[in-house]
Amino acid sequence: MSSESTTHCPLLLLLLLLLFLAGSGSAAAASSSLPSHDGDRHHSLLSEEQQQVERFQQYLRVRTAHPNPDYAAAVAFLSDQARSVGLLFQTFEFVPGKPLLLLTWPGADPSLPSILLNSHMDSVPVEPDKWLHPPFAAHRDADGRIYARGAQDDKCLAVQYLEALRALRSDPSFVPLRSIHVSLVPDEEIGGRDGAARFAASEEFRRLKVGFVLDEGQASPTDEFRVFYADRTPWWLIVKAHGAPGHGSKMYDGSAVENLMETMETVARFRDSQFDLVKAGLKAASEVISVNPVYMKAGTPSPTGFVMNMQPSECEAGFDMRLPPTADPDLVRRRVSEEWAPISRSLTYEVASLEEGMVMLTSQADHEVLRASTHALSFGKPHSVSASLQGQRLPSISEKGPIRDHAGRPLVTATNETNPWWTVFNQAIGASGAKLAKPEILSSTTDARFMRIMGIPTLGFSPMANTPILLHEHNEFLKDTVFLKGIRVYENIIRSLSTLPADPL
Ligand SMILES: [Zn+2]
Repeated sequence: MSSESTTHCPLLLLLLLLLFLAGSGSAAAASSSLPSHDGDRHHSLLSEEQQQVERFQQYLRVRTAHPNPDYAAAVAFLSDQARSVGLLFQTFEFVPGKPLLLLTWPGADPSLPSILLNSHMDSVPVEPDKWLHPPFAAHRDADGRIYARGAQDDKCLAVQYLEALRALRSDPSFVPLRSIHVSLVPDEEIGGRDGAARFAASEEFRRLKVGFVLDEGQASPTDEFRVFYADRTPWWLIVKAHGAPGHGSKMYDGSAVENLMETMETVARFRDSQFDLVKAGLKAASEVISVNPVYMKAGTPSPTGFVMNMQPSECEAGFDMRLPPTADPDLVRRRVSEEWAPISRSLTYEVASLEEGMVMLTSQADHEVLRASTHALSFGKPHSVSASLQGQRLPSISEKGPIRDHAGRPLVTATNETNPWWTVFNQAIGASGAKLAKPEILSSTTDARFMRIMGIPTLGFSPMANTPILLHEHNEFLKDTVFLKGIRVYENIIRSLSTLPADPL
């Protein structure tokens, strides 16, 4: 593990402590200089809001979009902010060139489970010519819309966390009982393997004793905030068909393309059965198993296109599947092996997670790294089964990610009174004068799943009400007033969560 973590030396810790003490001193001084009567205070808050918006714009101007995210610049900006707020900070580099910044405000009782606020520094690529305003200019229009890649997904969160903590640190009467951590991670948009996945499985993470995590959610077009208690798990399925080659004119059973067409029809029927539930309003889109064909490869190439008088001996199709946490992966696996790609029709298949959003155990070595770095973690062994029958490969499956947490429970965070963190979170939202919509499963996948795999209750939440969902789209924007309201919401949430007593029952 030593190769995966930064070194710690007593001198560095001492330096961090001094920085922290210096920060807390200046924060206290700043708060005592706040004007006392209401008129002035109102005025100074407005200018403070202006500064908060400007800091958000500054962060948006740091180019952290793929394929070349400038993580060094992001870490420099965020460390500066952390210093000015008076937080401890340290950088980990689990993979060279992919830094992860951890900010800490130690609690009065550091033995209690801490809270962790997570945000990824990277964002998806842009097509600048399709934008109304340049995507890294953070232009703010007359209506207060701030246009930038990452405005919603999810650079707003990092600045909102920091500004909420800045406000809390300027309140001399507030002392968190539990430690508050903020993790600013790389690579979420390309799967998180070298970012949150390694962090969650690290010894450094274990030492934080994280009890509860807040991670990103999504904007809400209504006046209710959305909250997500689970992500769907991606399975990328590849089915390969084999069959006797033959002349294009000959009718015979069991050609490769004919075999694959039967698979397409079977999958299409299953897809309909799931989609019908959504169309009938019986289930949300995120609550069913989605399966969509994403590519097909077939044919024998010729200089002018494809050979037309020959039936090929091989072809394949790829499907993007998403499993809700309620799905039984064993049943899905059996459906694939018995109905979609049965041996009897000379079909082979594999399930893999490639780039997107889950622990990608691409090799047994990776598996060992993750397992060895935490005692509690015991993923099911990635298994690969293959055999031969009459010279043909049989179905093989290589599921490369767990769908349950380390204790074998579905990757779901309780959103009822059995989860005291939820109760406190929910009350804090209400106390901010905001409303929470019915908790949802996220259709896609975020870093939250790495925390849930560790058995830690984790909610996906981005306080953006009355806002169109623009993540990954052209002209992504966030309104300044929505951004500012989010800071106040986080102030309430962090205050409540970090003072949750040891025995909340
Ligand atoms: Zn995101």
